[in-house]
Amino acid sequence: MRLACWSWGGRDHVGVASPCGRELTPLAMGDASRGVLPLVEALARGEPLPRESGTRLPAEVVRLRAPLPRPRRNLFCVGRNYRAHAEELAGTVFRSAKGGEVGEWPIVFTKMPETVVGPFDPVRLPGRAVSEQIDYESELAVVIGRGGRDIPRSRAMDHVLGYTVVNDVTARDVQVRHQQWDLGKSFDTFCPMGPWIVTADELDGRDTRVRGWVTPAGGNTELRQDGRTRDLIFDIPTLVETCSRGITLYPGDVIATGTPAGVGMGFSPPRWLSAGDVVRVEVDGLGAIENRFEA
Ligand code: MG
Repeated sequence: MRLACWSWGGRDHVGVASPCGRELTPLAMGDASRGVLPLVEALARGEPLPRESGTRLPAEVVRLRAPLPRPRRNLFCVGRNYRAHAEELAGTVFRSAKGGEVGEWPIVFTKMPETVVGPFDPVRLPGRAVSEQIDYESELAVVIGRGGRDIPRSRAMDHVLGYTVVNDVTARDVQVRHQQWDLGKSFDTFCPMGPWIVTADELDGRDTRVRGWVTPAGGNTELRQDGRTRDLIFDIPTLVETCSRGITLYPGDVIATGTPAGVGMGFSPPRWLSAGDVVRVEVDGLGAIENRFEA
């Protein structure tokens, strides 16, 4: 099942996308301002899917919104979770990582809920006085279904509702300037998300392909990132276990699992994003998001 959120006819709607993603069916959900969150909560309570309500539409006539346009709280995000990415940023973002050395525990930081924008919405560059080093991070994100605290690895997948695609857009100079990463990760519009949530019965996020392309303004499209989630250093069950240690997870919580090698900072010289660049992030079995960076 693909849980989606879209704007059409001057209103927001929540519903399901067809398996091919071409048709959208609205559901009787009432207020759609929180996207699919009330639906995720209802499913976590064991309630059935609400009835169809309204006009079925081809996806190309609507504006898809982020499935969780305003998550209930900060998104959990994982740093340094692919070995090759740890190596490309060793000595910069990952100061302690010698040649991609892996710690005993994952790096976890957060992005503010207000960072989230739709799967095809523009991302706003903050201006050079604020940051000159804007970078992309293609990622699979886990969406929690049934909540819980102290969830063991062995039962973690029972708490995963499904998955979505995010671009963990990052201001590298701000990220490395502060001890904590949250500021450099939380600029407005810095978390494009979508195009929907695919439920875990249709996609096993533990092994799927994550790719990222950059089309520089006036240039040709380049595949920059190409990884598989089976290569995660800390796998999805471990991340659910880690994030729920002493902290109650709620339905709709998001855990972004980290990015493969190939970010702009990993190039020599680095390749920062500028106005007019377009970044596409695709996860096999899920879909793609594509966002233009604007001044
Ligand atoms: Mg990231």
